[in-house]
Formats: sequence, C-alpha cells, structure tokens
Amino acid sequence: MKTITMKKPVGMLIDGEYIQTKKTIPVINPSNEEVIAEVPNASRDDLNRAVAAAKAAYPAWSKCPVEERAQLLVKLADLIDENKEELTELLMNENGKPLQMSRTEIEGASQWYREIASQRLESETLEDTEEHKVVLQYVPLGVVGAIVPWNFPMNLAAWKIAPALLTGNTLVVKPSPNTPLSTLRMAELAKDLFPKGVLNIISGGDDLGPWMTAHEGINKVSFTGSTQTGKKVLESASGNLKRTTLELGGNDAAIVLPDADPKEVAEGLFWAAFSNTGQVCVDAKRLYIHEGIYDEVLKEMVTYAKSVQVGDPSDPQTGLGPLQNKMQYDKVKDLIQETKDSGAHIAYEGEIPSGKGYYIPVMIVDNPSEDSRLVQEEPFGPIVPLLKYNDIDEAVKRANDTVYGLAGSVWGKDLELAYDVASRLETGTVWINEAQVMQPDFPFGGHKESGIGVEHGRAGLAAFTNSRTVMMKKK
Ligand code: NAD
Repeated sequence: MKTITMKKPVGMLIDGEYIQTKKTIPVINPSNEEVIAEVPNASRDDLNRAVAAAKAAYPAWSKCPVEERAQLLVKLADLIDENKEELTELLMNENGKPLQMSRTEIEGASQWYREIASQRLESETLEDTEEHKVVLQYVPLGVVGAIVPWNFPMNLAAWKIAPALLTGNTLVVKPSPNTPLSTLRMAELAKDLFPKGVLNIISGGDDLGPWMTAHEGINKVSFTGSTQTGKKVLESASGNLKRTTLELGGNDAAIVLPDADPKEVAEGLFWAAFSNTGQVCVDAKRLYIHEGIYDEVLKEMVTYAKSVQVGDPSDPQTGLGPLQNKMQYDKVKDLIQETKDSGAHIAYEGEIPSGKGYYIPVMIVDNPSEDSRLVQEEPFGPIVPLLKYNDIDEAVKRANDTVYGLAGSVWGKDLELAYDVASRLETGTVWINEAQVMQPDFPFGGHKESGIGVEHGRAGLAAFTNSRTVMMKKK
C-alpha cells in the first residue's frame, strides 16, 4: 500500500485555534506499520484551556436558536462531503479499513450530522387546564467530554458531536490516540465554522481520557469503548456527578433457526461476524446454529470466506484489512493460540499477505466448548465460533448467558418465530435476517455491562439534557 505522509503538521482545535504541541504522538498505518504522522499530545494545561473555552462559549451557544445550531451542523456535513476523498484516505491509512468501507464511514458521518440537524427535542406540555399548566423542558448540560475509540473514529465522533451541539452543549472531543488523524483534519476544516470554543477537538496519550473524566469543568461524559474502560470512566465521573452515556463492548450472539436456508444466510452471517475484520462492537461473536442445518451452514460459510480477500486496504478488491493496532493484534494472536492449543477444530483458516502489517487470517472455529475464552469473551478480531444447538430455548439461554447485552441477531424464514426469539434476547438491539443497521432515529445502547443509556433518536438527544418541569398555578 502506498502510504500517505502528512504534508503539513497536524494540529488540534482549542478555542477556535488549530495548534500544535512540542510533544507529539506517532500515528501508525496498521497495514505496513509505518509512522504516517505525528499528532499533538495534549497536556493537562491544554485540556484546561479547551474546557475553559467550551465553558466560556456555552452561554451564547445554549441560547442560540436551535435552527442556527442545526444549520452549522449541516455546514459541517457539507465540509465533510467536499473533502470526502481526503478524509477517506486519512481514515484508511490510520485505521486500516478497506477503501470502500472507509468511504462509507465518511459518508455515514456526514449523513449523521445532516440528519441529527433535522431532529428536535421540543418542550412538552404535560397538563394545561384553566387552573394549572405543566411544561417539560429540556435544557443543555454545559460542557460535554466526548471520548471515542479507534474502530469507527469519524462515525462515533459524529454520534456524539451532532446531538451534543444540537441540544446546546459545547464540547471537548478526544479521538483515540490510535486513530486521531481524520478527526483532527475535520477539526481543521471546521475551525472557523462554529463560534470559538463551541467545538474543541484534542488528541493525547493515555492520561488524557482519565483527566477528562475527572475534570470538574466537564458536565457530561459521552464515552464509547471497552467495558473495562467504561467502568473506570463511571467511577471517575462520579466526582462531580457527571452525566454519563457509556457505549461499551459486546459478545453478540446470532441464532440461526432450523428453517434458515444455509446458502441464503451464509453471506449475511459472514459479514455479520467478520465486518471490519471482527472489530465492530456489534459484530456477531457467537453463532448458534441448529444442529439440523449446522454442517451445511458451516460449509457455506467456509465457501463464502474463501471468496473474501484479506489484504491491502487500498486495493478495491480487498474485503478485510488488518487489525487496527499492535495491542489488539497481540491480544487476538494470543486467543488464537489458546484456541488451537485447546484442540478445537479450526474449520477454516484463511490467508494473509506476507510482510509487515497487523494481518490475521479469517478463522472459523467448529463447535468449540461453550466455556472457552473464544465463546465467553469479546475477541475483537477475525475469529468466530460456530456453535451447535438442538433446542431454541437452549439457544436463547446460551445467548443470554453473558455479562454483555449489546446486540444480537436471529436468522430464519418463520418471521413470527424469529420475532419471538428476538424479543427474548437481553440486548439493546436485535436484528432479524440482517445485521448492523443503524440510523440516527433508531435508539442504540447496551443492556447489562454493554453500557448505560442510549444514543440516537429522541432518547439520544434527551441524554444531552437535563429535564426541567415547570408548573404554573394560573389562578
Ligand atoms: P478503549 O476502552 O481502550 O478506549 C476507548 C477510548 O477511551 C479511547 O479514546 C481511549 O484513549 C480512551 N481511554 C482509555 N482509557 C481511559 C480511561 N481510563 N479513562 C478515559 N478514557 C480512556 O476501547 P478501544 O480499544 O479503543 O475500542 C474497542 C472497544 O470499544 C471494544 O470493546 C468495542 O466493543 C467497544 N465499542 C463499543 C461501541 C458501542 O457503541 N457500544 C462502539 C465501538 C466500539
């Protein structure tokens, strides 16, 4: 892959200024392990300045009519569209996701800003009689700290920036140190768009997140990342009782019902499980397949897997790229070794390019033990267990037997049965005969240890506000 190198220094956005720092952090292209850029390493002072700027900008921004705030979000979408190819290239280089998927993410981010801009969270009149009136208002929270992971840097930032700004909050956004480039370029593009201090985007090392979650000037943390980190965020945010929305890890089950057609579902199941090389929070991580069709589904999935090219993200034929970073690569390698050592039957192990890059072959594991680490944990890589069941109640029980509750899917022809099974899954989202469909008006959030609160839709907007109930005795 021809690697980009940044032509000019990358900065971060504080109080309307795009600034560099002396200390920097290298950004690595996971497909060839080359350093492609150095980005600012924000100090605690930088964070303090960003929070102070957001706080100073808050009174005017929160009073600014929602139509004006919405218009600026639409303009941000326009800027993303106008610079789509450059942002796509940056994202592909920093993240390793294939070209078309990178482009889809940039388009998705723009769509999110545009569509959230059209949403409204109006006051509601709860009672209105001759004597008494009750109105429920939604008021912004103040300064929001948004913390984003590396798997979908631009989309997941949009999921926070758009609703937070629309509802009248100001922001300090922190991308992952692994994938800050596209977000920092967006910050540069948006430098003069919003009033100074409304949108601050800063990059930094491992200290920056904890500094943000403990910061007394931040009123809400909107966090997407692992469950392990989410628990630390919740603890740290308790200092000033910050509102928190936590979108965390998952161990999603897919249940394939006895009447599913193996040939028809194989491709859908493959992408439900391996999309973004297994690095999607809602990738199916355990596939429960009825014993009557198990062998056929396994065979069809292996046939389909053979048709998917793993390699150079810039090659338009590539379906799956490398893992995003060395830590994740080592973690998944370790899990693969443990799975092989356990004697589990590997039904398929694909091929990867030779040379550098955090590539791991696609692996389909044939009915490993239910208590293996592969089944119990979130691998976040291209290794997926297929598991045999003989009774639907048992499949539902096994699917729910986890601390996670992010999403799940059900596959089969009898839609009534599929709906019934879907309604018994202890997860925030369930798809039937499809996977990973997300829209700005469909609430998304995890049950159990997969999160607290939801993003998107009316409930997602409300999560960036406090409610105020105003009661008026008229006479
Ligand atoms: P992570 O938890 O390691 O990091 C997420 C972000 O938090 C990064 O920006 C990181 O720098 C920051 N961070 C790290 N430690 C922190 C701390 N102590 N306090 C505050 N911030 C801290 O997660 P990751 O490895 O970047 O992402 C993968 C995980 O994210 C997976 O578990 C995946 O399932 C989850 N995820 C969830 C969703 C969702 O919507 N539920 C979406 C995408 C990813």
